[in-house]
Amino acid sequence: MDKNIPYKTYLEESEMPKQWYNVRADMKNKPAPLLNPATLKPMTAEELGVVFCDELVQQELNTTDAYIDIPEEIREFYKMYRPSPLVRAYCLEKALGTPAKIYYKFEGNNTSGSHKLNSAIAQAYYAKKQGLKGVTTETGAGQWGTALSMACAYFGLDCKVYMVKVSYEQKPFRREVMRTYGASVTPSPSDTTNVGRKILAEHPGTTGSLGCAISEAVEVAVGSEGYRYVLGSVLNQVLLHQSVIGLESLAAFEKLGEKPDIIIGCAGGGSNLGGLISPFMGQKLRGEADYRFIAVEPASCPSLTRGKYAYDYCDTGMVCPLAKMYTLGSGFIPSANHAGGLRYHGMSSTLSQLYDDKLMEAVSVEQTKVFEAAQQFARIEGILPAPESSHAIRVAIDEALKCKETGEEKTILFGLTGTGYFDMVAYQKFNDGEMSDYIPTDEDLAKGFAGLPKVD
Ligand SMILES: *Cc1c(COP(=O)(O)O)cnc(C)c1O
Repeated sequence: MDKNIPYKTYLEESEMPKQWYNVRADMKNKPAPLLNPATLKPMTAEELGVVFCDELVQQELNTTDAYIDIPEEIREFYKMYRPSPLVRAYCLEKALGTPAKIYYKFEGNNTSGSHKLNSAIAQAYYAKKQGLKGVTTETGAGQWGTALSMACAYFGLDCKVYMVKVSYEQKPFRREVMRTYGASVTPSPSDTTNVGRKILAEHPGTTGSLGCAISEAVEVAVGSEGYRYVLGSVLNQVLLHQSVIGLESLAAFEKLGEKPDIIIGCAGGGSNLGGLISPFMGQKLRGEADYRFIAVEPASCPSLTRGKYAYDYCDTGMVCPLAKMYTLGSGFIPSANHAGGLRYHGMSSTLSQLYDDKLMEAVSVEQTKVFEAAQQFARIEGILPAPESSHAIRVAIDEALKCKETGEEKTILFGLTGTGYFDMVAYQKFNDGEMSDYIPTDEDLAKGFAGLPKVD
């Protein structure tokens, strides 16, 4: 054990960030704007305001202010479960026999079990401030729906969740957690919306997808007085809120007198990774420091490593604005044996731009290797990680093993986004030796690309 470095580094409450950091302000090439699908012109604040809360629209469109104040009410809520610890993985280092130093930022220390609460509470706050009655959203695996239900309960808002049908059926306890916090949960596709009925008619027996649940939630928000739609990832505003992860990490490293060389995060829609790396990326963009950033995605849903950088629909029903991003096409659905989350077809437009500018790397990993890492981590470090988070663990271990070969004493930081208690069906498959890998062929991907809208 290094003499001066504790297992866990916490900030004092008084040292918690008072402002979020907006990395777009420091980007030379800004992420491309959202487009109106009808006119193909950039979405105006007024158009976005039909779907999203006003203050969140301002944050979505803000590419110039590097820092945005965190309202006091949100900071009060953050204090119930933040600051989150920066943990030195001494036991893992020892087990791997690596000279590398491994740190992880643990975001699973709240009942929703993931980092998603950081943005849920902000979005609920702005909805309340606007005097709304409630919000609608989609959830896939259930973490976002859970986080949002907690946040809505705190501010006394109604919360309508459209949950991908296969998860609704496979994860009844997730559903009950959300209902305990007062949310209503509808399996998607449902017959409660036009788009749901259309999808059901075209694909009877479908088990749903995130893109489809988004379309339903947007339709209900736009059609209900006093409601807006909120989204748990992908959007710039969500990356902004999640910057608390990176800001706390940066402050903790400064306190320790340390500095990471490699920063690793799993990437679904990009919110935790974007939040973790933003302040470090800001230093890199301003020429103050250099880091390697690695996005880790599933080989079965490889939007960065094999996707196209293009304008695409964010949802199946094509009711949302178009976003320019690395995408597999809004019609892409990962193979049925994929168990590890991170199944969204596209990627945050901010991260997409940073990746396209070669400021960040990306790798894809197969799920059996991910669960091997998850099991190893659980046995050595004690925490049962979410499958999503385990993508980052996989690559952190791989990088630490490379250091073992070369003898380099690199410092590795990875985001441990959450716990995996509701993912035991996937763990069971792995434990029973029944998990397999499916990597989509180029032909599989070509079908998704064929559905990309034509935008010049
Ligand atoms: C939702 C989720 C992710 C992936 O979402 P991002 O927006 O890419 O961060 C990762 N880990 C956990 C635990 C999640 O709940």
